[in-house]
Amino acid sequence: MNGDLIKKMYREFGISDKVIEMSSRIEKELKERFDAVDAVAEYNQMKVLKAFRRNQVSEAHLGTSTGYGYNDIGRDTLEQVYADVFHTESALVRAQITCGTHALTVALAGNLRPGDEIFSPVGLPYDTLQGVIGIRKEKGSLAEYGVSYAQADLKSDGSFDYEAIKAGINGRTRLVTIQRSKGYASRPTLSVEAIGELISFVKKIKPDVICMVDNCYGEFVETIEPSDVGADMVVGSLIKNPGGGLAPIGGYICGKKEYVDNAAYRLTAPGLGRELGASLGVNPAFYQGLFLAPAVTAAALKGAIFAARLYESLGFKVIPNGTEERYDIIQAVELGRPEYLEAFCRGIQYAAPVDSHVTPEPWDMPGYDSKVIMAAGTFVSGASIELSADGPLRAPYTAFFQGGLTYAHAKLGIMMSLQKLCEEDDSVMP
Ligand SMILES: *Cc1c(COP(=O)(O)O)cnc(C)c1O
Repeated sequence: MNGDLIKKMYREFGISDKVIEMSSRIEKELKERFDAVDAVAEYNQMKVLKAFRRNQVSEAHLGTSTGYGYNDIGRDTLEQVYADVFHTESALVRAQITCGTHALTVALAGNLRPGDEIFSPVGLPYDTLQGVIGIRKEKGSLAEYGVSYAQADLKSDGSFDYEAIKAGINGRTRLVTIQRSKGYASRPTLSVEAIGELISFVKKIKPDVICMVDNCYGEFVETIEPSDVGADMVVGSLIKNPGGGLAPIGGYICGKKEYVDNAAYRLTAPGLGRELGASLGVNPAFYQGLFLAPAVTAAALKGAIFAARLYESLGFKVIPNGTEERYDIIQAVELGRPEYLEAFCRGIQYAAPVDSHVTPEPWDMPGYDSKVIMAAGTFVSGASIELSADGPLRAPYTAFFQGGLTYAHAKLGIMMSLQKLCEEDDSVMP
């Protein structure tokens, strides 16, 4: 393939030679890094296929059910495939799970009773979970049902505060919630290995406590999952990594049979549990999405690494930085100025497959204390495994971005973001 042809195409997108040349230089430096990401994807692709083969996934499983959804073999087999991929006894993978927050809510509410306490050894959980637990007052929170909450913060260097954890676990502690990804907080994302060490420590203090991991954004980034290192439940969203960009909705809970069953009684109704829940035509997308998930996650990761190195080399602070190990697909770039953040998001939007003609504007989003700007031109509304970016309009004007169904698209989006930044201020790139 003639490199000039590719260049010509980038120029047609309005990208300057300066940006094109810098990007190709950065990309060349990343070869080893990308090879390592591809090796993880290769392993995970086989892990997924092994589960498909073991469960003899066949055409009959791609069918659908309606109404009560009794005996949906496609749905039930898919759940066994998930259980095999995550090496758990059981799994609940449903279109009726609205989003990641709902999956976590069902896992918590199904397994907690009045008087129980939830303990987080990794600081405050994700924003929406704070409302679910009742750390932030919300109607219907677990706090209203008599479930209390306690936490131990991470130390300032990001490590576990074992003393505080030991002190925080008491007779009422029934469930320990561990968030793998930093989400939009400033702490580091946890490696699966670190999660394993934390779980061992917790289980030594209290062997019968349920260890639940919020696995959002972490699936398939490593060759092992938290369920491989002792987690009793791992929970996540299908419009992030494991849906592979194809799942139009859904969430999963994988873990010990008893805990997954308890969650199912909460998702549908006591006494009904997992027997009900029509798949409404989503089975093919769930299977094919899981099949693609390792490759899609790798594409998103490569995009994040490319962006980190590109922006880092221009002097911006990036988290994680261009060389450190990664345990989720989120990339933060501190842009320092509101007009830079807006330009960055414009670039991501202009490279999108859907709504590339619209210009994102900052708006007053409910629940935020400053305006927020979002760039997303996704096939599945709000899907963050597809290339998307957002950031609050307040110092240090950080763009959080993630996703990219293909590396070529993630790369184009990031090059476009830099192009828009240069158009805003040509001193960005000397
Ligand atoms: C995305 C996410 C969730 C759930 O978010 P939804 O928007 O409800 O899908 C929970 N925890 C973390 C760490 C996340 O990244």
